[in-house]
Amino acid sequence: MQPRDLSDHVAYEAGRGIEEVARELDRDPSEFVKLASNENPHGPSPAAAVAVREAASSVNSYPKAAHADLTSAVADRWDVTDGQVWLANGGDGAIDYLHRAVIEPGDTVLVPSPGFAYYGMSSRYHHGDVREYDLSKADDFVQDADTVLEAYDGDRIVFLTSPHNPTGSTIPLADVERLAEATDDETLLVVDEAYGEFADRDSAVALLEGRDGFDARDDVAVLRTFSKAYGLAGVRLGYAVVPDEWADAYARVNTPFAASELACRAGLAAIDDDEHVERTVGTARESRAYMREHIDSHVWESEGNFVLVEAGDAAAVAEEMQRRGVIVRDCSSFGLPGCIRITCGTEAETERAVETLNAVLADLD
Ligand code: PMP
Repeated sequence: MQPRDLSDHVAYEAGRGIEEVARELDRDPSEFVKLASNENPHGPSPAAAVAVREAASSVNSYPKAAHADLTSAVADRWDVTDGQVWLANGGDGAIDYLHRAVIEPGDTVLVPSPGFAYYGMSSRYHHGDVREYDLSKADDFVQDADTVLEAYDGDRIVFLTSPHNPTGSTIPLADVERLAEATDDETLLVVDEAYGEFADRDSAVALLEGRDGFDARDDVAVLRTFSKAYGLAGVRLGYAVVPDEWADAYARVNTPFAASELACRAGLAAIDDDEHVERTVGTARESRAYMREHIDSHVWESEGNFVLVEAGDAAAVAEEMQRRGVIVRDCSSFGLPGCIRITCGTEAETERAVETLNAVLADLD
């Protein structure tokens, strides 16, 4: 017995951790800094760390109450109904649920290229056909409705990423609205705001809910995660905010207890820890400004907790930086060869990354 034919499916390439790299290079982990996966350099919200420790003694029970409490807390945060909040195993899990709820075999899904690889992977698992819109056609990767509409062909889901990974650009809500109006009624626009806290833009929840002068819509969903600004990537917690009319669908598509007791307890503590989020966002803004100013190569303007850098032979640059102790991301896996992505770190980490990159660029020249 073999798995079904998976030859069209690619494996997700996660950034490698410090331990893994240090072991491979036979070096001490303390010699490395990892700025490759857009993780929070300040760690988890301290309140969340305490909550996880306290929750440890109750993990023999299913997380029914914590799940309900977190759903309500997230709903309050966005001023939506509980049924509109679809908790999931990370933003990745929420991407799966949206596919489960919408896609039928043979439907097409339009994704950005370059872009976050899991959109297309999830589409394929759910028997959707993947189509791409080419962001590199747009001026300097700036996202607008025209670039998407040029490629749009009645697709069932269209993914927008704001801020976009790996470019850091955002898409104005007016463009999202224009897209929602120009696409079929049966097309769902997913606005992925995994990095939303780091940007100056308002959330597309305003569009979904008909606030700030927009008309309410039933064809937009917004994706959010606790992995980045809240520093909870390890517990795997994210969610989609969906139209009110969709409330019944969640129970039909979710994996039972979609978020663990530890994840729910961590999320409940973190969602009220504004101080941690503000500190994290402040650090990211300083770090990306510093990198734009001091890196000896083109650095795109970013509203995320990372910057995209033109690096020539990006694989060689990333490998040499890693050898010198700074782990960054070669962007080939995003469909963007020739670039690296560097996560915003603390002041010391950022300075080390810039110094190392500039030296590597000079040495490889
Ligand atoms: N969307 C984008 C654009 C991302 O970069 C990521 C994480 N790399 C996710 C969603 C999913 O994040 P998570 O599953 O950790 O919530």
